[in-house]
Amino acid sequence: MIKFDEYIKNLNKRLESYFPESIAPNEEGIFKPLDIYNVPEREANEYKFKSIKYAFKHHYENNSFYKKFCKDSNVTPNDIKSIEDFKKIPLIPDKFFKTYPSGNEFAMWLATVYTGDLPDIVINKNDSHEKIINKFNKAGLVISYSSGTSGRHTFIPRDKRTFHDSEYAIAKSVITMVYPFWEYDMYGYVLMPNPLKTNVFAGKVCSVYFDAIKDIEVALDREITADLIQAAMQNNLKGRIIRYAMQRENKKMIERIIKWLREKNKNKDKISFVGAPFILYFVMEELAKNGEIMDFGENGAVVTGGGWKIYEDKRLPVEKFRKMVEEILGIPPENCLDLYGMVEGNGWMVHCPEGHYLHLPTTYYHARVLDENGEDVDYGEKGRFAFLDGLAMSYPGFIISGDEVRMYEKCPACERQTPVLEPEVKRAAGAEMRGCAEEMRRILSMDMSG
Ligand SMILES: [Zn+2]
Repeated sequence: MIKFDEYIKNLNKRLESYFPESIAPNEEGIFKPLDIYNVPEREANEYKFKSIKYAFKHHYENNSFYKKFCKDSNVTPNDIKSIEDFKKIPLIPDKFFKTYPSGNEFAMWLATVYTGDLPDIVINKNDSHEKIINKFNKAGLVISYSSGTSGRHTFIPRDKRTFHDSEYAIAKSVITMVYPFWEYDMYGYVLMPNPLKTNVFAGKVCSVYFDAIKDIEVALDREITADLIQAAMQNNLKGRIIRYAMQRENKKMIERIIKWLREKNKNKDKISFVGAPFILYFVMEELAKNGEIMDFGENGAVVTGGGWKIYEDKRLPVEKFRKMVEEILGIPPENCLDLYGMVEGNGWMVHCPEGHYLHLPTTYYHARVLDENGEDVDYGEKGRFAFLDGLAMSYPGFIISGDEVRMYEKCPACERQTPVLEPEVKRAAGAEMRGCAEEMRRILSMDMSG
């Protein structure tokens, strides 16, 4: 078996282009340690303090909206002397990133959120949000979004460097956790829209997969835009036409994946799926209907993300999904891991194979669990997930989410040196349903929900 250090060094070679020319203090924690889940506590805290303090000072000095927010709370970077002081760093509610206006004012709003100066672009009066984003992205940014059931999107403006750091972080987190499974010479399937044709964050961030693995297929190759998602959800003629077209494409998509699976199974190839669980669920349902069973065994892995809603009113228990993957594809539960992340952050929580707890990154990311008064609850108690993200340089990544979690200081199932969240994360009561896969699911599962 390949030694762990060798394994990660191979990954670093593959992802060389994601390394910044010189690593900034906020980036050391993700780029320097080889084994991010086993950095000794003192060292991890040093990385973390350096990273988050650096990010906080940067936003305080270069983002006038956030500076004002800090002044209202009476906090300056000088007040942050230890990790204990992270409590003082003002947190932005995730709802804030949905409060955008349209047209020219949308660009002004982005300029408020953005730390630093936005590139100059020309905006026409009737430009849609998507069009404005595309103009900024052509000018060098990576603005992406995710949407919720209210139809409002969460827009996050990343600069290229923050985006690359985030991509490197997701790849390193997952590949570390599946050790020794990963190798460059294998086959992969992205169960998301084509990263090159979408501004949906969950799709976009998968582009690193193309650099980490040699041969990649994409489930949804058409362009998925905010306008298309919105139009498809309307109950009018246009909405019905789009849904009908999507439904036909979906059938073809499932058939394509099945064909791919048959071929790889026959050739005893090594495969991995990355993306929305509901797509693989429909594939497995189709296989089960025909009593078709495959035996990938240790040659297969599934990494899911984006939420566990399969139908409008049905949540698929993660454990049941793993069982299906084992029974139908022959892939053992240790190779079937879920990932928790969000458009607002660059920290990636990944299941450990031993107990399927979500391990938190600790070298550039600080997780908190809060009660309704914004006070930290004890380990093991339920509360709102909040985080301080040292990698976000283009927007202040100090955020309270709408997700309800329990955090444990140590993993009940494995020896890795990081705190964990419970295996499944749910939206808090009152917070709208969303997930990176949710918007796609809403379009794609319409004909399959019967
Ligand atoms: Zn664990």
